[in-house]
Formats: sequence, structure tokens, C-alpha cells
Amino acid sequence: MTKIVGLTGGIGSGKTTVAKIFKSLGVPVYNSDEEAKLLMQSSEVIKQELIQLLGKECYTDGQLNRSFISSIVFEDAVLLEKINAIVHPKVATHFEQWFSQQNAPYIIKEVAILFETKSQHLFDFIITITAPLEIRIQRVMERDQKTKKEVQAIIDKQLPDSEKIIQSNFVINNTTLLEMESNSILIHNKIMNLINNH
Ligand code: ATP
Repeated sequence: MTKIVGLTGGIGSGKTTVAKIFKSLGVPVYNSDEEAKLLMQSSEVIKQELIQLLGKECYTDGQLNRSFISSIVFEDAVLLEKINAIVHPKVATHFEQWFSQQNAPYIIKEVAILFETKSQHLFDFIITITAPLEIRIQRVMERDQKTKKEVQAIIDKQLPDSEKIIQSNFVINNTTLLEMESNSILIHNKIMNLINNH
């Protein structure tokens, strides 16, 4: 039976970058955020439910209006929960379909809000990625053209790394690419050993 390994970490920790290393090692990767975005675009059911909740402005010319949605949910946790209640069950179903087609020893499921949604029980192992706060802020500022203040405000809403780490089986330090790559290969080998010796 294929094992499910959760890959998580705060904004700019390097989830997608680390996932690429695992992919290159032959591990199938499911990116939950990416699939959620795709489903918000392609699923007519989600579209209608979001329009009912947020109004017509959440789609412009049929395209999901991400900046509109981000701006209204940032200060409204209840609204964010309502959006999640619409989108998450559909992503879960989509994941199950994808997972049923996999036959590798394990797959990686990239989830930004794994602990925040109390989803630990869904995983055989959990990997948390960390990097010094200043480096993460710098990387996101460059990637998303955001100010330091904006990135800090997002970080302030996330669970601190220390709390993620104590609930994880493995931690990958992503301060440098070299360190992250060797950490990832080591952890891949450990997971394969754990699976093979079970
Ligand atoms: P988010 O939670 O915002 O989706 P993430 O955790 O998936 O982010 P990435 O997108 O992988 O993080 O990385 C954030 C940015 O930092 C990207 O532009 C990526 O190219 C860069 N980056 C990640 N790791 C490193 C590294 N070790 N060295 C240099 N740049 C890096």
C-alpha cells in the first residue's frame, strides 16, 4: 500500500522547491494548493458556490479573481473557513482519485496548512521545511513583489515553525539549496528504509 507523506512549512519555506527534488527522485507529488486553484477555475460547482458566498466579483471574465478574494479574506477568518468548506472537500475527492492511480512506495502531498487544519492523521509521515525567517521573507518579497510588512503579516497568522517541528517525523532545513538537497535525499532514503523494513 502506497504511503502518504505530508510536506509542509510556512510561506516561502520552500515546499515547492523541495517537492521538485522528491519528484526528481521518482516520488509522485500532489500539490494541494495548486490543485485547489485549478479546481476553483475548472469546477462549475465550486464556481457557483463561491459566487453565492462572495458575489460575482470573485470571477472576472470567467477567471478567478485571486486578489479580490485575498483582500476580503485576509481580515475575515470566518469567510476563509467558509471558502475552505467549499473547496477542500472537492480537493480531497480529487486527491483520492489521483492517489488510487499511484503505485510508488510513497507519494508526497504538499499542504501549506497541514497542522492548521489538524490533518496529521491523514499522513504516514510528515516533513516540515524550515528556513530562517529573514531568508523566507526575502524570498517571498522577491517572488511575489510584496513588502516586508505584507509578508510578515502572513507569517504572523501561521503556526510557528517550532510547533510544526515537534509534530513532524522529519525536518528539512532549506537555508541553502545544497543543504536542502542533501537533507531531502537523506530523508527519502530513510522513508524508503522504513517502508521496506516494515
Ligand atoms: P508558499 O508557501 O508561498 O507557496 P513555498 O514554501 O512553496 O512557498 P517556494 O515557492 O518553493 O516556497 O520558495 C519560495 C521562493 O524562494 C521561490 O522563489 C524559490 O525559488 C525560492 N527558494 C526556495 N528555496 C531556495 C533556496 N534554497 N535558495 C534560494 N532560493 C530558494
